[in-house]
Amino acid sequence: MKQVISVKDLEEMVRSGRDVRSLPEGALLTPSARDFLREMDGANAYRVSAKNYAQAVQPEKPVTSKSPKAEIDAYFNSPKVNALKAQICDVGRRLWQREYVDGNGGNIAIRVGEDIALCTPTLVSKGFMKENDMCLVDLDGNQLCSGNGKKRTSEILMHLQIMKRQPRAVATVHCHPPYATGFAVAGVEPPTCMIPEYEVFSSVAIAPYRTPGTPEMGKLVADLVDKHNTILMANHGVVAWSHNDVEDAYFKMEILEAYCRTVLVAHQLGKPVNTMTPAQLQDLLKIKQSLGIPDPRIGLKECELCDNEGWRPGVTCAVGGNGSHDRSLASSADPDAEALVQAITDRIMNDTQ
Ligand SMILES: [Zn+2]
Repeated sequence: MKQVISVKDLEEMVRSGRDVRSLPEGALLTPSARDFLREMDGANAYRVSAKNYAQAVQPEKPVTSKSPKAEIDAYFNSPKVNALKAQICDVGRRLWQREYVDGNGGNIAIRVGEDIALCTPTLVSKGFMKENDMCLVDLDGNQLCSGNGKKRTSEILMHLQIMKRQPRAVATVHCHPPYATGFAVAGVEPPTCMIPEYEVFSSVAIAPYRTPGTPEMGKLVADLVDKHNTILMANHGVVAWSHNDVEDAYFKMEILEAYCRTVLVAHQLGKPVNTMTPAQLQDLLKIKQSLGIPDPRIGLKECELCDNEGWRPGVTCAVGGNGSHDRSLASSADPDAEALVQAITDRIMNDTQ
């Protein structure tokens, strides 16, 4: 008898990192499984696992933390790894230029092997790093190489814990963008259903505060990266991971920061904020899934998307009451969150007068 493959089977394959193109010969696909494959086909993203990303960078004989020191050093100074060092410098400069980092804050890491990662050094402004400043560490944070004797960032443990927990994470960026960090300090998860880019590319959650650089902080962040690619770290900043590359992890910062800023401006205009309907959100989530970006809402029915306020903090669903899918944030927001936004708005308005 021929094997029947459902969406659930395909999702399970994706979750466990298997290529869905390696289905048994002659397998029968359910109609929704066929749709699922079609959606994935344009995107290509699921195929980029951390493992084959690392293989693309790695020499023929893969280098790991256990390789002889000379091989690790040669790899660390190879053209491919040097190109990634240059990418880190470039992303660091953009973080600084956009004022997403202050002092020596922020850090960046790229996985370059099964159990090794390239990362930024400690005590250096991210705007002015040189390729020679970069460090190589194993996934426990032990430093294996440095270009000029600099020590790896103390916050690397959090990046490595993300990589350990999320095998698809090939790059991580951490910084302190002021608007997003404002939400993190206030403990307010940005409301959803307002801007398509945010819905498609970001999947945000808040991790509680712990001392930066401690394993406990890293664990609390890592606990969220199965379903989220952008974590607001309470009273601290933001960290994002990407299954593509370091620039993509950086893009998540731009998207989140622009969104938090826009949400604040929208509330200052004194008009009810319009949100998209569950059907419109569902369309965006389909695109998101095809791009291989996680979201805890993927797979939920429209009515569940709507009913579950946990997914839509600050927004209460209006469906059912009047049969309309329209709702406004201002008229139905959680009173605490609304009071908080109002207080922040008042403060900003007073300061600018
Ligand atoms: Zn930080």
